[in-house]
Amino acid sequence: MGRTYLFECFRCGYRARVSGGADAGEHFAVQTIVCADCKELYAAVTEFKAMASPAAGGSNKTAPGFAAVLNRLPPRGARPRLKFKPACPASLLHRVRVWNRPDKCPKCGMFMEQNGLPFRLWD
Ligand SMILES: [Zn+2]
Ligand SMILES: [Zn+2]
Repeated sequence: MGRTYLFECFRCGYRARVSGGADAGEHFAVQTIVCADCKELYAAVTEFKAMASPAAGGSNKTAPGFAAVLNRLPPRGARPRLKFKPACPASLLHRVRVWNRPDKCPKCGMFMEQNGLPFRLWD
């Protein structure tokens, strides 16, 4: 179960809703990053469990060849996990670094306060 918290800077008022580090749910994983160009915190998706191909479901009138299915489908329950390098959602050219609490406000450099209760739970 992943958790998103509200982080707040009491000097400049900047707020961000991020996990505050690496976090993972059932279907994907995120890492909090700070972009030096945007001066923003982001939740970057670092891992995503791919869905099985819908064409391999039971709706086809003719069954696909066994070899074709083997080539296309991962073993049951072992869907491939796609991994990504954390990147700024605004531009891949932006300079980002991993941000793990306690860490500093991207706008003014003060340490940010973490709100105690999760803002949102996600799967
Ligand atoms: Zn950026
Ligand atoms: Zn600040």
